[in-house]
Amino acid sequence: MDYKDLADLIFPDVKPIEYYEEKYPRRNLKEGAIVTRFAPSPTGFVHIGGLYQALVARKVATQTEGVFFLRIEDTDQKREIENGITDIVNSLKDFGIEADEGMISETEEKGNYGPYKQSLRGEIYKSYAKHMIEMGKAYPCFCTPEEVDEIRKKQEAAKVRPGYYGVWAKCRNLTVEEMAEKIKAGEKYIIRFKSPGREDRKIKHHDVVKGNVTFPENDQDIVIIKADGLPTYHFAHIVDDHLMGTTHVIRSDEWLSSVPLHLQLFHEIGFKAPKYVHISPIMKNDNGNKRKLSKRKDPEAAVSYYAEQGIPAEAVKEYLLNIANSTFENWRRQNQTEDIEKFDLQLNKMSVSGALFDMVKLLDVSKSVISRFSAEKVYNESLKWASKYDEELADMLKDKEYALKVFGIERGNKKPRKDIAKWSDVKNEISYMYDDKFYNKNIKYEYQKISNSDKIKLILDEYINNYFDENDDKQTWFDKIKDLSGKLGYASEVKEFKANPDKYEAHVGDVSTVLRIALTGRSNTPDMYEIMEIMGSKRIKERFENAKNAL
Ligand code: GLU
Repeated sequence: MDYKDLADLIFPDVKPIEYYEEKYPRRNLKEGAIVTRFAPSPTGFVHIGGLYQALVARKVATQTEGVFFLRIEDTDQKREIENGITDIVNSLKDFGIEADEGMISETEEKGNYGPYKQSLRGEIYKSYAKHMIEMGKAYPCFCTPEEVDEIRKKQEAAKVRPGYYGVWAKCRNLTVEEMAEKIKAGEKYIIRFKSPGREDRKIKHHDVVKGNVTFPENDQDIVIIKADGLPTYHFAHIVDDHLMGTTHVIRSDEWLSSVPLHLQLFHEIGFKAPKYVHISPIMKNDNGNKRKLSKRKDPEAAVSYYAEQGIPAEAVKEYLLNIANSTFENWRRQNQTEDIEKFDLQLNKMSVSGALFDMVKLLDVSKSVISRFSAEKVYNESLKWASKYDEELADMLKDKEYALKVFGIERGNKKPRKDIAKWSDVKNEISYMYDDKFYNKNIKYEYQKISNSDKIKLILDEYINNYFDENDDKQTWFDKIKDLSGKLGYASEVKEFKANPDKYEAHVGDVSTVLRIALTGRSNTPDMYEIMEIMGSKRIKERFENAKNAL
């Protein structure tokens, strides 16, 4: 009896690996094309860290005219939830991330390298496990979970490394005959890898993100096929990424320590190993302590959070690129209106330690992203959000024509308005443009430099009676505010004011502020000329009257 007989006894009717090697030919892509994947378990929950990985993977595949696929890793069936795959596909789609190949729903997929769901690949893994047994590189292990536990306890007591390795690996030294006998007698078993490694030897490895790393060799005889007939993650990773032609494994750095095992598996089975790209987790500053974003503690860890808050997917993506490459920020400064697809993401420039997630910065990025949206898009997106989360806002947006004017203020300008960071800000940022909301509130007019009631009254009256004209263009409109300032004894130029600070009480900017506050109840708004244009003289007069009555 030899290994081949043993393999036949364990897997009598699986196909030879040549069948699969032929069925999934090497991909014919241009030099340098990156084939990579996102390989989540179907637990339904997409973590921001997962989105980050998928975004990076999608981006580098696109950049190199490679392939990005979605593989569902469901060999741990305890963790599965209903519609888990659809949730993942949809979450990615919400962020504009679509795979070239892989699962597209609970049961459907696209691409020639499938099945893309591991539980449907059972036969494939068995063929490769059989191949390993034939080569004497894997063996059946008959130890029960209790026995394995026993071994662990002994190791603890002896203060040695835990695991199934070396002298502790009871079954690795059984003869082929002994193994066959046990199988024939109906003993239960799993399949283990027969590791050729030694813990006292080191391996050197170059990780695309982490750089050069050194590890002790793997010497663990890890399980490759479990009692339920499905593979472990490690074995499925080797087989799948080989057959699917993965060139770069982009995954979370919690797997970095598995690299010695994975390289050894690739080597022993005789496949070329892919490059490894271990991405650092997204961290959070928790009262001065840096820790990973946690699914349990941090609502922002779930990608669904962003849709609920009304933070556009584009902003989240752009923020994640900021985290991914520190060169992004500079690129954005120089290419303010360019699509992020044009940014060339470099895997080897990703941060080695975890980047800090900064909500303030995200919202800041989001303001810029929204500032580049058209009024129509801002309208559509905020309405979509409001229809789900804010009835009052949805109601305000009913008059589309008016809303488009409001959202259109400053849009398309060189320096567009940046007052909206998320759709949940919209109501507050535009409410003053709606009379029923404006007068409904107990407006607190907080005047600034010019705060004397008589002086304010004078500015408002003079302006509306003698200066304001609906037909003025912007330059004329502004010149008139300057004239008004001069007439009332304020500096009509800021420069002039700065040159003679003792001569003037205030300048044209302060006069504008009075007008702005009377008009909107706020000292900070987008372009006042455009606001006045939309309101028209009747509404402006009403607002000024209201402001005067409140003095
Ligand atoms: N299923 C593994 C995970 O979710 C995939 C790791 C990998 O990308 O290889 O962590």
